[in-house]
Amino acid sequence: MVEIKQALQIIRSQDVPLDSEVVSLKDSLGRVLAEDLRAGFDLPGFDNSAMDGYALGGLQQEYKLVGEVAAGDLKEIIPKIGEAVRIFTGAKVPQGTSAVIMQEKTEVKNDLLFLDQLPVEGQCIRKKGEELRSGELVFNSSYKITAAGIGMIGSLGLDKVKVFKKPVIRLITTGNELVAPGGSLQGGQIYESNSGAIVAALNSKGFTSAGNEQIKDDFEQIKTGIAEALQNAGVLILSGGISVGNYDFVKQALEENGVDELFYKVKQKPGKPLFFGRKENKFIFALPGNPASSLSCFYIYVLPLLQKLSGLAGNGLLELHLPAASDFQNRGDRPVFLKANIEDNTVRILNAQGSSMIGSMAKGNALAFVEAFEKIEKGSLIKTFLIS
Ligand code: AMP
Ligand code: MG
Repeated sequence: MVEIKQALQIIRSQDVPLDSEVVSLKDSLGRVLAEDLRAGFDLPGFDNSAMDGYALGGLQQEYKLVGEVAAGDLKEIIPKIGEAVRIFTGAKVPQGTSAVIMQEKTEVKNDLLFLDQLPVEGQCIRKKGEELRSGELVFNSSYKITAAGIGMIGSLGLDKVKVFKKPVIRLITTGNELVAPGGSLQGGQIYESNSGAIVAALNSKGFTSAGNEQIKDDFEQIKTGIAEALQNAGVLILSGGISVGNYDFVKQALEENGVDELFYKVKQKPGKPLFFGRKENKFIFALPGNPASSLSCFYIYVLPLLQKLSGLAGNGLLELHLPAASDFQNRGDRPVFLKANIEDNTVRILNAQGSSMIGSMAKGNALAFVEAFEKIEKGSLIKTFLIS
């Protein structure tokens, strides 16, 4: 049995070889850059107008209007001193322009332009290279591409990016009693709900499952299922059958597949019977079958590894420290991850904390952490991990 800190440290310290691939920019949201990205040219590429208004030759309050340039125009009308050119936002500022004045601060009479006040040199001109110089670093390798990132990379003219590959993830649920939702139950059976929850959690964090399989509590079938899944999976997630019951075959089946144990059992509640192992560069988590335990363990332990395997520096769920909405006493000798809801900037610990109870977790958005025997007073800060 390991402490939570040790378990997380073991996961974080795994050396992982990362592969990259080139993807289309439009498909790159949430992907992680596999190389530094530098500007191929100055941005903006030319001096351009920040306003709809007038490009001014010299700094005065009266000008003669001599023409017009709009965004995208190739023509250049160079204003002499005392001349102004009608200009629009994004249009190339003619050479020799002293400043641009926004149209709201002017008055036009025939071909004469009058300014409310004297302009300042360079005003309302977006200078060539003011955002980025050619060759300047835009994003480091390991940058996670956001919507704005796609905008930025597109403005540099790139339609493809080199990103880290995502891990190939497979899922195996085990249990004689499990029936897929939609089917009908015989006595003693329950619906298999973990795969749906874990696949959804994967998707919500930008990952997908390459295949899910449901296997009976049968040692040989589990062993074969693991062998098959490990042929192409980089990460195998199992649920159920990892505890100490007579029908819990997963641990032995992993051993017989040559999986090295990195830890088994974590001093925590829920999710004590959690297994983490490795075979060459493939990682294996066996999560406890209880629905809330399995999903908590996914968020706390599996997610950080998946992030690491996709090149992210991220460390799992965002950790927040917020005031508790009420008192809470952990009377047990194990630290607990509690189903909780962050609301009005406080953490409300939800009812129905049982490790089989997924409903309360479904109504919350976070997991709150309380040490063994710790008492949390209303209003004191409680460590909380934001799920969504
Ligand atoms: P186990 O870890 O296999 O001992 O299972 C612990 C509890 O979780 C038992 O009550 C199981 O019936 C339940 N359980 C295991 N796997 C699943 C699953 N995939 N979906 C829903 N409940 C499950
Ligand atoms: Mg079972």
